[in-house]
Amino acid sequence: MIRVAILGSTGSIGRSALKVIRRHPDRFQPVVLAANRRSEALADQVAEFAPKVAVLADDSVALPSTPGASRWSRGREALLEAAAHPDVDVVVNALVGAAGLEPTLRSLEAGHRVALANKESLVAGGALVPEAAERGGGEIVPVDSEHSAILQCLEGHAQRAVKRLVLTASGGPFRGRSRAELAEVDPGQALRHPTWDMGAKISIDSASLANKSLEVIEAHVLYGFDYDDIDAVVHPQSIIHSFVEFVDGSVLAQLGFPTMELPILYALSYPERVTDESLQTYDPVEASPLTFEAIDHDAFPLFGLGVRAGRSGGCAPAVFNAGNEVAVQAFLEERVGFLAMAEVVDAALQEVGAHEVHSAEDVVAADQAARTAAASAVERIRKKGNG
Ligand code: MG
Repeated sequence: MIRVAILGSTGSIGRSALKVIRRHPDRFQPVVLAANRRSEALADQVAEFAPKVAVLADDSVALPSTPGASRWSRGREALLEAAAHPDVDVVVNALVGAAGLEPTLRSLEAGHRVALANKESLVAGGALVPEAAERGGGEIVPVDSEHSAILQCLEGHAQRAVKRLVLTASGGPFRGRSRAELAEVDPGQALRHPTWDMGAKISIDSASLANKSLEVIEAHVLYGFDYDDIDAVVHPQSIIHSFVEFVDGSVLAQLGFPTMELPILYALSYPERVTDESLQTYDPVEASPLTFEAIDHDAFPLFGLGVRAGRSGGCAPAVFNAGNEVAVQAFLEERVGFLAMAEVVDAALQEVGAHEVHSAEDVVAADQAARTAAASAVERIRKKGNG
């Protein structure tokens, strides 16, 4: 029996993880369920799965009316304790944003496997994450579909045999649109993703391709390849989840119907494969044709900006990520337009720079500085727009 903690259990990935667990009660047992604010949704999950511990990370939220038999706790410290719970084998980190970094570090230090969906852990934390794994004996198995694909393609191959990684991007709802056409798009349009059903933040990141640059950084940290050896290509059908090209010219790819349940199941059961009849199988005729395009850097500047931040290193990826979180929130609240998101992030990168980080505290400080810089950029752009 694999004992599981889910951090972010009421979000999109958390609910998918529980769907997978529900189908395999003989294999996986939820021991910890943690949510941020949705106490009633968490109470429903607790009633069904009866974990030992239920956590609400936001301590301003009241406990639910029917708490059930589980032990409930509240607040950030309770979340961090849950991440290192001794009776857990795998921690699914499905938290949103840079707030997910510290729980990842705690889980790894406690020797757990982290089934990592919180990409900001790797982006903002950088080398701190593999260092924590080294210290505590934990390991990361990615839940992000691209990195799960790369892991599956790399199995059994030496690092020196690999020439480059190629991540695929669906292109999002605005694929094929010019920069001029993107000036007027609204959050409702940006949230309608053609192939993946996801939370709001990642849907916007997918529409702007900021998500793909976060994933390039993630691949760099996770697998240790140079930025020169990591590429991304648009693949609208979202069937090929990534490629690995080898030094002899051979290319491996991992294919599958686009559902997060597959990489979640793989991360929970890795290196085993589990029979799951509910997962839709890939039908080559049905999915045909599979097509590919280059990324349009003019229309989607956040992609190049993010990769440059990755190359700069130090705190720059954390700054890119935090600036982007502020920009996405401002776009969702219709305070800035779609194209202005890149301006906001660029302003944060220029103001905060790329100094070195040595601890989670350094990352938090860079994150905060980036949020302040990005928030004033949002105000500047708004005033300019209204004036
Ligand atoms: Mg992905």
